[in-house]
Amino acid sequence: MKNIINSKLPNLGTNIFSSMSKLASENKAINLSQGYPDFEVDPFLIKLVNKYMNKGINQYAPMQGAIRLREAISEKIESIYHQYYDINEEITVTAGATQAIFTTIAAFIHPKDEVIIFSPAFDCYQPAVELNGGVPVFIELEPSEFKIDWKKVEKKISSKTRMIIINNPHNPLGTIFTEHDMKCLENISQKYNTLILSDEVYEHLVYDKNEHISICKYPKLFNNAIATFSFGKTFHITGWKLGYVLAPKHLMIEIRKVHQFNVFSCNHPIQLAIADYLQTPDHYLSLNSFYQEKRDLFLEIVSASRFKAIPCKGTYFQLLNYSNISVISDTEMAKKLTISNGIASIPISVFSFYGKDEQNLRFCFAKKVETLKRAGDILIKI
Ligand code: PMP
Ligand code: GLN
Repeated sequence: MKNIINSKLPNLGTNIFSSMSKLASENKAINLSQGYPDFEVDPFLIKLVNKYMNKGINQYAPMQGAIRLREAISEKIESIYHQYYDINEEITVTAGATQAIFTTIAAFIHPKDEVIIFSPAFDCYQPAVELNGGVPVFIELEPSEFKIDWKKVEKKISSKTRMIIINNPHNPLGTIFTEHDMKCLENISQKYNTLILSDEVYEHLVYDKNEHISICKYPKLFNNAIATFSFGKTFHITGWKLGYVLAPKHLMIEIRKVHQFNVFSCNHPIQLAIADYLQTPDHYLSLNSFYQEKRDLFLEIVSASRFKAIPCKGTYFQLLNYSNISVISDTEMAKKLTISNGIASIPISVFSFYGKDEQNLRFCFAKKVETLKRAGDILIKI
């Protein structure tokens, strides 16, 4: 008798974030592995959610998202990236960026379509492409500075290339796109007519006076670009799972065809609360300096250790290289530090298609000062 299950993802296990957080909790380790804050959410935002719940906003939101939230998103994007997205046709509220990304890939990727993914990459792109029958085409980022070699990208384009996925700022590397990168992307997308999926969940976490270069700023890319965002990252509410996707009308029509059947609509009171919260731009514009202070504190503490810090220009992740300390693999090192030293991180090789191990670990610095100091006390003794 044939096996009733023919796994669509036979090689996939539990993801690294769940396993490292579990290991951290079993060993009572400081958890700098999975990316989420350990400090409280703004009580005002919680009050707003309560307000809308108490007002009776407890039933389905419109499929595209609450109109007031779409208005607030449109205003925000226009004010910071100078591109208007139509409230009715070009913005959809999603259950976090993960759903926005999955839904977008499901809407456009047909069996055998090729999708360019830069490796190392955040973990949700590849399975989404494969579940839809697509073929991920990996391009390794250049060593040490993790830059994109755009000539390599052009060589990998074929008649089957449907989409290029970019992640800016980049998780796990902490790199950001330059104007030059965007120009190269613009040339390639126009020359070969590929879709671009731009994952920008860390748009407000860019440091050292750099500006986030959103795909939304590039009018020539507008017709082919889909951009995804996460309120989880922006407002310290990763557990609320709310985000959104922006795309021109002709693409959004297809995205919504999938969205209405894989989630239909998202948490209604939270949408209205965030619509109000977005009226104060400082709630997101202050994040760069808020997180830069944390990054700088963490860097200062670890400068006294034997770890070497790799520059972090964006996101709330700091890579530390431990080649001065040990020769073991990064996965072994991450486990060892969690179990024996009481500090959990994420090994970078798991994000690499090639399993490339440069002895780098990712530490999340979205933590209270006290947590960062306790983590530092451990790291400087290793
Ligand atoms: N993309 C990247 C690069 C991420 O780090 C994450 C994790 N927050 C997501 C997408 C998913 O975001 P969300 O939690 O809103 O689903
Ligand atoms: N984005 C978060 C990280 O990189 C976690 C996402 C998840 O747990 N799936 O750590």
